[in-house]
Amino acid sequence: METSGQQFIAGKRRSGTSGEQHSVTNPATGEVLATDTLAGPEDVNEAVAAARAAFAEWSRTTPAERSEAMLRWADRLQARSEEFADTESRIGGKPIRLTRGFDIPGSIDNVRFFAGAARNLEGRASAEYSGDHTSTVRREPIGVIGSIAPWNYPLQMAAWKVLPAVAAGNTVVLKPSELTPLTSVMFAEAAQEAGIPDGVINIVTGSGPVAGQALVTHPDIAMVSFTGSTAVGRQVAAQAAGLAKRVHLELGGKAPFVVFDDADLEAAARGAVAGALINAGQDCTAATRAYVQRPLYEAFVARVAELMDGVRLGPVDDPATDMGSLISLRQRDKVAAMVENAREAGATIVRGGRIPDGPLGQGAYYEPTLITDAAQDSAIVQQEIFGPVLVCLPFDSDNDAIRLANDTPYGLAASAWTSNVFRAGRASREIQAGCVWINDHIPIISEMPHGGYKASGFGKDMSVYSFDEYTNIKHVMSENTGERHKSWHDVVFTSR
Ligand code: NDP
Repeated sequence: METSGQQFIAGKRRSGTSGEQHSVTNPATGEVLATDTLAGPEDVNEAVAAARAAFAEWSRTTPAERSEAMLRWADRLQARSEEFADTESRIGGKPIRLTRGFDIPGSIDNVRFFAGAARNLEGRASAEYSGDHTSTVRREPIGVIGSIAPWNYPLQMAAWKVLPAVAAGNTVVLKPSELTPLTSVMFAEAAQEAGIPDGVINIVTGSGPVAGQALVTHPDIAMVSFTGSTAVGRQVAAQAAGLAKRVHLELGGKAPFVVFDDADLEAAARGAVAGALINAGQDCTAATRAYVQRPLYEAFVARVAELMDGVRLGPVDDPATDMGSLISLRQRDKVAAMVENAREAGATIVRGGRIPDGPLGQGAYYEPTLITDAAQDSAIVQQEIFGPVLVCLPFDSDNDAIRLANDTPYGLAASAWTSNVFRAGRASREIQAGCVWINDHIPIISEMPHGGYKASGFGKDMSVYSFDEYTNIKHVMSENTGERHKSWHDVVFTSR
């Protein structure tokens, strides 16, 4: 694992200059993986200057040139995929099966998708709307993008931020979470190996309040693209608005999982366990609130509990491990406190609600947790937990199901489980979320947009829709009569 130097600026790995030392650890074991000095404002300045310098050339490359470089980049990632899977697993406390089967192939597929999409950027109009002019629409890169990413899927989040930006001809300075920078730096390095010029992709590893702030407020950053919590996203948006910068926000979620009484109970129970426990629940689209129609409710709770009993916690490098640790002891304790508060408020903890005994308890592990009898307006139902916790509540009518599903501030993702096409149609229309799955929960694909409604943010990651965030639309209007006195001049003056 190459870990020396967690800044990647103008094509060079190096340490930061903030003077603040920080260690990246494996949260499953506490093992220190790398220690380095974090980025300070000087490093951000340098990275932005490098990105600005690189923009002049990169923005003029042809779509085919960008596409070919990105395809080579995907090949480099593929060749190093085991190294990426191992590092991603250790920095995030993720089971190796998850990083090999989801994080790494998903990110490589994203690179290949945007390599193709780079050649499909288009403006829509070209016509003589006024009669005397030809109008065309150009789609142009914006400039230097300042991106800020969270720790839950370090490589995928870096990919979602960087790829549409560079495919469209922008250059980027990305600030990963200081907890999980290693694969982001490797990602940028692989781009360099593929021939993407120095300065197009820069990584500054530092804390949010120091490096993140410096990036958001830097005068040469044309746009801020942020993925993280709603609380920090609001601060970032307020600052960007004060500086009239474009902003894209992918924020928290609290996905409902609605099971109607005609659903396949076994499929729904399996879907709930997989959807709630993927990445130890640290997934912004994780199933967090299962609403189950009363005739199925008890059987559903019993089956979910039984399936959770079979989920194996263990060392992250063991391919038999189903669920790894949370990102940190701090996050584990936050989750434990939220579950404890729910218990005190009268909820029933059907499974889990504990830090495991034995050696796993030394790491940031938390047991898969199933909660019932919580009040709809309680914190455990309303607030993002970001841990392996599923709350299950009954409902009676279809109207109740839709109302409850929409009854949190968030609107990132949701699922509905039913064999009735009309119920499926209503749920997909009326649930306020950027994605509604029918009879599944979690799958994502590069071709389709990901992004929130309500307090989950605005703007889209992935898919060609993300180009709307990372491009400016320019109208070019070309006079085509050649007349010196244009017909419209008459409304201003008529002398000839
Ligand atoms: P945070 O909001 O705490 O942090 C996100 C990023 O912002 C980190 O890189 C952090 O830096 C940085 N940051 C913190 N404070 C500031 C600041 N004042 N100015 C600029 N940057 C700052 O989120 P988490 O890292 O805890 O990630 C979990 C959250 O991310 C959850 O709410 C989850 O739902 C959301 N998320 C949303 C996704 C979506 O697509 N909608 C996808 C994945 C996660 P640092 O931590 O290094 O100090």
